[in-house]
Amino acid sequence: MSQISEAEVRAEVRAWLKANWDPDMSLVEWRNKLADSGWGMPQWPREWHGRGLPGGLVRVVDEEFAALGAVGVLKGGIGRLAAATLLEHGTDFQKQKFLRRIITGEDTWCQLFSEPGSGSDLAGATTRAEFDGKEWIINGQKVWTTSAHHAKYGTLLARTDWDAPKHDGLSYFILDLKQPGVEVKPLRQMNGYASFNQVFFTDAKVPSEHLVSSVGNGWQVAVTTLAHERRFADGTSSPRRRQREGRIYEEERAEITTVMEPYKWYPQRAGRVDLVIERARETGADQDPQVRQEIAKLMTLANSAEWTSRRARAVQRQGRPQGPEGSLGKLAASHVARSAAHVHTLITGTAAMLTSAESPRAGVIAEILVSVPATSIAGGTDEIQRNIIAERVLELPKEPRFDAGPFRKVRRN
Ligand SMILES: Cc1cc2nc3c(=O)[nH]c(=O)nc-3n(C[C@H](O)[C@H](O)[C@H](O)COP(=O)(O)OP(=O)(O)OC[C@H]3O[C@@H](n4cnc5c(N)ncnc54)[C@H](O)[C@@H]3O)c2cc1C
Repeated sequence: MSQISEAEVRAEVRAWLKANWDPDMSLVEWRNKLADSGWGMPQWPREWHGRGLPGGLVRVVDEEFAALGAVGVLKGGIGRLAAATLLEHGTDFQKQKFLRRIITGEDTWCQLFSEPGSGSDLAGATTRAEFDGKEWIINGQKVWTTSAHHAKYGTLLARTDWDAPKHDGLSYFILDLKQPGVEVKPLRQMNGYASFNQVFFTDAKVPSEHLVSSVGNGWQVAVTTLAHERRFADGTSSPRRRQREGRIYEEERAEITTVMEPYKWYPQRAGRVDLVIERARETGADQDPQVRQEIAKLMTLANSAEWTSRRARAVQRQGRPQGPEGSLGKLAASHVARSAAHVHTLITGTAAMLTSAESPRAGVIAEILVSVPATSIAGGTDEIQRNIIAERVLELPKEPRFDAGPFRKVRRN
């Protein structure tokens, strides 16, 4: 089959936008058009609201939308991870029910994986799901759940068999959070935001058709979600449009304010390398040879990490299996973030601790310092990434395991 060229895609999307784009439409109406035409998620399969385009050509579509100021689908959020997982493991019923509303942004999602005793050791989850002959009954607790306070659905990892080995006793569900058996309690972080929650389940219910894949296959499904999460570690940025006029822009701004609110500090969490040189110039720190040296080290690191991730994307585009670049990306991002926080501290000095409107960059520098640690934790800690690289990339001997046999008998936190 001959592959579609960049020029063909550009011409097609441009013509489609010319005929259809209207900033006075409602956001949902417009995104339904995107779902029908496939231009909202062009890399998805044709039968599920996409156009089956290779990943490398998505950029062309984005460029044409940006040139016209046309609104696309929400770039970040956990709905995207849920969608990627459903495309791989979901039933037709689930794809039919959930994918379109992820594109339109009508449903927001959260990820109900981590528990107080199982974060890195995710397969040790103890939230239980029991089938009562009609539906699944859920009891237990999750924590660190980004966006649970406004999510409609959550992807839930729960234990369905206590006698199977740890990884084989888990199942993956789609849980409706807006029901009486679910209690969501926000947690406040040291940077002042409250993006995470504790979520408690007391006889919460999941219909049997919301089980993803099969009973006992939850770990395999969760691995798919995590692979997408690590690949898009910081794919949460929202478009910064000029104050354009039209109903759709107003609705998009409102959506960004609410749905993307938990991700507001994510640029700071990545270290704000983009601010380093400007800050060095405005403070005069660029004249200090020691600071210059540290800036040079940071820029070298940040640029090589970027090139490594571009190599990983190129491999992905060509449909080749992911190499070591994929595993290195997340670890590199957290190294860059921590180095950037160090350099910001050198540049700004003790004033980096100030948070008022008059403080350096109105408190953004302080926010960087208290947000960067999250990069080394979210989506798998640095230590876990190193274990993955050691075992799967370098093929070093595996960590000794003490969790074989029925999960019921395994020692746990
Ligand atoms: C910004 C952010 C957003 C998040 N969003 C979500 C979300 O939406 N949904 C969700 O379910 N979770 C979410 N998390 C939780 C995240 O996935 C967990 O925090 C993470 O997996 C680590 O688990 P833990 O906090 O339980 O730490 P632990 O697993 O208790 O780890 C504690 C320390 O021990 C180390 N350690 C543990 N095991 C090993 C080992 N085998 N070898 C070496 N060192 C080890 C760890 O590296 C860490 O330093 C989020 C976290 C952050 C920071």
